[in-house]
Amino acid sequence: MNEQSAPRVAVTLPGGRAVAGRLHARRQDAGQWLYEVSIEVPAAAVRPVDGEDYGQVPTERAGGRPEWVLQALPQDTPDQRALVLHSADCWAAQGRLTPASSSEAAIFVQHGWATACDVCKPTPGSSRR
Ligand SMILES: [Zn+2]
Repeated sequence: MNEQSAPRVAVTLPGGRAVAGRLHARRQDAGQWLYEVSIEVPAAAVRPVDGEDYGQVPTERAGGRPEWVLQALPQDTPDQRALVLHSADCWAAQGRLTPASSSEAAIFVQHGWATACDVCKPTPGSSRR
């Protein structure tokens, strides 16, 4: 059952706050019902766990914001591309920046027109969107 088809439920958190969730499964254990639900919370409420890989988590960005940017190096010309590919939120991206889709970014790296940033290590063409 995927996230869209799971029926909605209201979940009361410890402390009494109620949030919307989705019910994925229910199981009776020693007479007590346990529900498997997913809830949406602000990212600030969630901490990563050491050793977990979050690279495959579906990621949806607001407003069609580009995921990648190409930074033109001073020696970049239309005939001899010299670009650095960054994640759109990379702090090291500066200067002349051009937004790029994942497929554009992958093509630029594939053809050697752009090199991947050492800081954000972008991986366009992986399942990350
Ligand atoms: Zn970068």
